[in-house]
Amino acid sequence: MKFIIGNWKMNGDKKLLNEMESVLADVTTENKVVLCVPFTLLGAGNGKVALGAQDVSAHEKGAYTGEVSASMLVTSGAKYVIVGHSERRAYHGETNEDVRAKAEMALENGITPIICVGETMEEKRVGRTFEIIEKAVRESVPKNVQKDIIIAYEPRWAIGAGITPTRQEITEAHKLIADTLGNMDLAGTPILYGASVNGSNVAEIVSIENVDGVLVGGASLKPGEFVLIINNAK
Ligand code: PEP
Repeated sequence: MKFIIGNWKMNGDKKLLNEMESVLADVTTENKVVLCVPFTLLGAGNGKVALGAQDVSAHEKGAYTGEVSASMLVTSGAKYVIVGHSERRAYHGETNEDVRAKAEMALENGITPIICVGETMEEKRVGRTFEIIEKAVRESVPKNVQKDIIIAYEPRWAIGAGITPTRQEITEAHKLIADTLGNMDLAGTPILYGASVNGSNVAEIVSIENVDGVLVGGASLKPGEFVLIINNAK
């Protein structure tokens, strides 16, 4: 079983969600399929495809204009939430500590956080890839976790860029994450790869050791391509 998780970002509408659901209804797979949609679409599904959100507040409730709490996500039917996506880190200044607080809030409410980590092109260029990834895992993952979490390794320079890292780059990053999680008593935590995944490259990507699935951006908005990804990920 591989996780195939779509991240619609700020795209999509009810029509696309319903179209995706009807296409997915004809797919037989052992893989776990999740769609992380905008907040406004969480209640718009038919309940047959697992839905997730793309962010959650670190606060329980109160004067936090524009934020959405984990308990609100539960009420809306979300089972998963992406936290620390590179676009949140880049455009909203989210730090590893912020991400950890959000992941904690998700866990307290029974939602599985998908915690994203990954290096920028500049960090890669100056040879800091491993340091950045390890630090992000150590600092973004809640302490004393006993419930489900998912890690997504997303090299930020490859997101939406149509380029994939080499097999060796993915292998090394995922091994480092697996070893780091092992040292944190979290061996066995699923580790997904994300960035420019499509129907043609997914089979090779999920064949790499310690790759337990994929987080898919752009291609998760195209029903035909998303189904190809689901079917080719084995
Ligand atoms: C993402 O942003 O999570 C992502 C994986 O994007 P894309 O697949 O479009 O590179």
